[in-house]
Amino acid sequence: MYNKKTVKDIDVSGKKVFLRCDFNVPLDENGEIIDDIRIRGALPTIRYLLENNASIILCSHLGRPKGKVNPKMSLKPVAAALEEFLHIKVPMAADINGPIAQMMANGIKPGQVMLLENIRFRPEEEANDPEFAKSLASMADIFVNDAFGTAHRAHATTAGIADYLPSVSGFLIDTEVKAMGRAMNNPQHPFVAILGGSKVSEKLKLIEKLLMEKCDTVLVVGAMSYTFRKALGGNIGNSLYEESMVEEMGKLMERAKEQGCNLLLPVDNVVADKFANDADIKVVPAGQIPDGYAGMDIGPATAEMYARIIESARTVVWNGPAGVFEMPNFAHGTETIAEAVAKVRGVSIIGGGDSAAAIAKMGYSRYVTHISTGGGASLNFLQGNVLPGIACLDDKE
Ligand code: ADP
Ligand code: MG
Repeated sequence: MYNKKTVKDIDVSGKKVFLRCDFNVPLDENGEIIDDIRIRGALPTIRYLLENNASIILCSHLGRPKGKVNPKMSLKPVAAALEEFLHIKVPMAADINGPIAQMMANGIKPGQVMLLENIRFRPEEEANDPEFAKSLASMADIFVNDAFGTAHRAHATTAGIADYLPSVSGFLIDTEVKAMGRAMNNPQHPFVAILGGSKVSEKLKLIEKLLMEKCDTVLVVGAMSYTFRKALGGNIGNSLYEESMVEEMGKLMERAKEQGCNLLLPVDNVVADKFANDADIKVVPAGQIPDGYAGMDIGPATAEMYARIIESARTVVWNGPAGVFEMPNFAHGTETIAEAVAKVRGVSIIGGGDSAAAIAKMGYSRYVTHISTGGGASLNFLQGNVLPGIACLDDKE
């Protein structure tokens, strides 16, 4: 059972908090933030700490600078965005755990914040170097982890630092874990999962977990459905599929049957003669994709059938788009599913970066119980994996 302390379980007044956030925002070529949802996701914890008289050393990574300073991945745009949201100064320490950062950390007063430069400018972060974690810990009294997006990584500031400080979660991690935990551990039935996206190998463990957790129906969509279809001996044309997974998927379908789980594949597909929106497009029965064509979306009959099943569910977990939704001609399946998920009377959980982006683009976000902010982390969590960034936190008494 999930039993970790949050910022509400400890006294933060007058304390210096090392707050690990996920400010890994997408930047355009001018360094402007394209989507600030991750910054906004961190605000409740930051505001709570400031209102309760703590001072905060903020820390995050951005991109994959691989242990080297890379000005294109500086957190400067994040500092500017935070200043606008919080209406306070957000000074930065470029040397991370060097003398300037130490001096700034010494000087901050309750109600003030500072931001360390991109923590992945230092190789010790991803190496989870204990000395590095210890020197960062020495700047603070408490470690708060609110970086759900990196909770599946054991890095110096997501896990290692917890060895040296009292450690609790922020509100974002707490909300994520509780919402997804409730859906997976105690689901109301019918429990329907929609699984799609590009690679079945990435999601095999999730499918197995869902079968184990007595999911009533698994609706397979997206590119991964062609690997299943191939296992049944259908013609999939040029569709994306994983040869090495075909046999495994055949076995998985058998297992689903044995366990009384209704694992459904698309009955029709939208196919195209090239990977482009202006391709020659047809709708064909599943397993009868002509040579020279590739499956790009679930077909209209599948979308209708799936929508009815989704709408009557009490618990829905959706991970992975139904087609190449980035191209308008292949977005219909994903749109239909998004609409059906928005209508669910019960718990609806969306994990996965692209699925979350798809539902946000369609304007249905507010009709969903929970949209996870962490792509890889949510997939890991839903699979039942222990996330090091959460396991390292102190248990409630
Ligand atoms: P998520 O981020 O939600 O977990 P994935 O990353 O697994 O989802 O997959 C999303 C990607 O899968 C999208 O870029 C989408 O275009 C692609 N995709 C979905 N269906 C197909 C298909 N039939 N052929 C090729 N790519 C597909
Ligand atoms: Mg993705």
